[in-house]
Amino acid sequence: MTKRTEISELGEFGLIQRLSQGNTQHSDTIKSIGDDCAVIDTKLLKTLVTTDFLVEDIHFDLSYTPLKHLGYKAVVVNVSDIYAMNGTPKHITVSIAVSNRFSVEALEEIYAGIYLACENYGIDVIGGDTTSSPKGLIISITAIGEAAEDKIVYRNQAKEGDLICVTGNLGAAYLGLQILIREKQVYLEDPYMKPEITEENSYLIERILKPEAKKKIIEYLKTENILPHAMIDISDGLSSELMHICSQSKVGCLIEEKEIPIDQTAYDQAMKFNLDPTVCALSGGEDYELLFTIDPKEREKIIQNEGISIIGVITKPEDGLKLESRGGNTFDLKAQGWVSF
Ligand code: ADP
Ligand code: MG
Repeated sequence: MTKRTEISELGEFGLIQRLSQGNTQHSDTIKSIGDDCAVIDTKLLKTLVTTDFLVEDIHFDLSYTPLKHLGYKAVVVNVSDIYAMNGTPKHITVSIAVSNRFSVEALEEIYAGIYLACENYGIDVIGGDTTSSPKGLIISITAIGEAAEDKIVYRNQAKEGDLICVTGNLGAAYLGLQILIREKQVYLEDPYMKPEITEENSYLIERILKPEAKKKIIEYLKTENILPHAMIDISDGLSSELMHICSQSKVGCLIEEKEIPIDQTAYDQAMKFNLDPTVCALSGGEDYELLFTIDPKEREKIIQNEGISIIGVITKPEDGLKLESRGGNTFDLKAQGWVSF
């Protein structure tokens, strides 16, 4: 049996000491955990700040979310937002509210995931807050990053004629979630039933439980000297993110269905669930891929990178948001997929 230490045995201060590693990797971290505030030397760069809440039974379900993955994902979703501004994530603060349902060991699992993500993305944990909650678990992470002022990419600078690019593939996380929800249902009906997580669907489950932020793509754009006009990360689904870019940039867009990247396993799983793979890609969400627009003169450099697909073009505002289907028909893009009739 694994050891269970009650949080009350350690107290708040002892708990923080046990969870925090203390060491930092950036010389600009002047003061980390241990004082009233952390201190960062921002030098000549601009500071980027983003924050996200993860609330039990709203954003995650512990019946199928391993605690280490939860910690990892809590960092990644914030890091993804920093990359979406073309910045470099450097620091995070971690705030946690827990009930006595959770042991110290359970919190250590969450922190193992947090620190693993910090190692992978080059981040220092520089503070946080710890408090009790009557029932569920709440994690809020704030990420702090940096960028030169002229390299920051906003959502509102897409230009007519820009190529619309997306990284990786879409819809996989949504299909992974559908598998987990189905397995939970089966389990609730028959607790002796083993979840059917096979080699085939493990990629989809990994996409929902352990997403990665697109660090390599940001580095590629930098080495190739490509500065996107507009960029956003895909947390709510392609359609919804396209709407943000188009409304903030006051432009339209034309997306080609056949160019939307969908992994074969995601495609096959969508078919098994009787879902349209394109709708999963457009409305699924939680993929944490990057969506960005570039000047068409950058096309050659972009197509060199297998991790980036060109899926359409930015059009005039009066053209609206459109999707050209495989069959050659044009539909209006809606926040929840598109309406076909
Ligand atoms: P204060 O009372 O000033 O808010 P705390 O006792 O809450 O200070 O925190 C002490 C130190 O530990 C601070 O540096 C704070 O940022 C850090 N800290 C508190 N909780 C966490 C946590 N969950 N993860 C990382 N650092 C934390
Ligand atoms: Mg505090």
